[in-house]
Amino acid sequence: MKRKELEITLSRNVHQFPEPKIDLEQYLTPARVAANLLHRAHQYNDIEGKKVLDSCAGTGILGIGAALLGAQVTALEVDELAINKLNESCELMDLDINVIHTDLFSWQNCDIFDTILMNPPFGINQKKHRDMDFVQHISDVGNILYTIHDGSLSNQKSLSKIYAQKGLEILETYLDDFPLQQSYPWHVYQNKRYQVLVIRSRKA
Ligand code: SAH
Repeated sequence: MKRKELEITLSRNVHQFPEPKIDLEQYLTPARVAANLLHRAHQYNDIEGKKVLDSCAGTGILGIGAALLGAQVTALEVDELAINKLNESCELMDLDINVIHTDLFSWQNCDIFDTILMNPPFGINQKKHRDMDFVQHISDVGNILYTIHDGSLSNQKSLSKIYAQKGLEILETYLDDFPLQQSYPWHVYQNKRYQVLVIRSRKA
């Protein structure tokens, strides 16, 4: 499937969060950003025929995209309403994704995945670098990780240090535009553009 076709399919079939919860930092990854990441991962041979975990899956855009590109997907998410939406999309698209309803930090897992995809909470109004708690926790169960982070210049610098401290080798990074839809009451603009940093990494 071509990148553009994937983007269109995701934008038509993946749901918004029905009731976005700020403490869980629920932001849907735009279809273009998801398709760019997945297309790249596919080119690196990290998707087709691979065991892929979509961690903090939300309504499932990364996992659904990976399944469309031929991965065997497990999706993990703490919020039941988001999971319902993910399941709706899977039914509609006739996709078979193994969905796990759990908090990542209490997940009893004994599986290993080829590839992990994750857009974790960044810790915007909470703990700085909260995303790195998620990355560190999940990095033991996968070989290759694709993670999405705040792409501000200062964060780019800190992340390269934090990844190294946590024993993760950064293999590739790129920046992408992340138009943020007005999803919470204090979002003044209808569409505000942020930059995100996508990191491909593995345990050093
Ligand atoms: N992956 C989706 C959602 C990103 S938003 C996408 O790219 O569109 C971050 C997601 O992390 C939300 O769905 C939120 O509910 C989930 N989340 C937050 N804390 C979590 C935790 N401790 N365990 C599992 N999921 C969590």
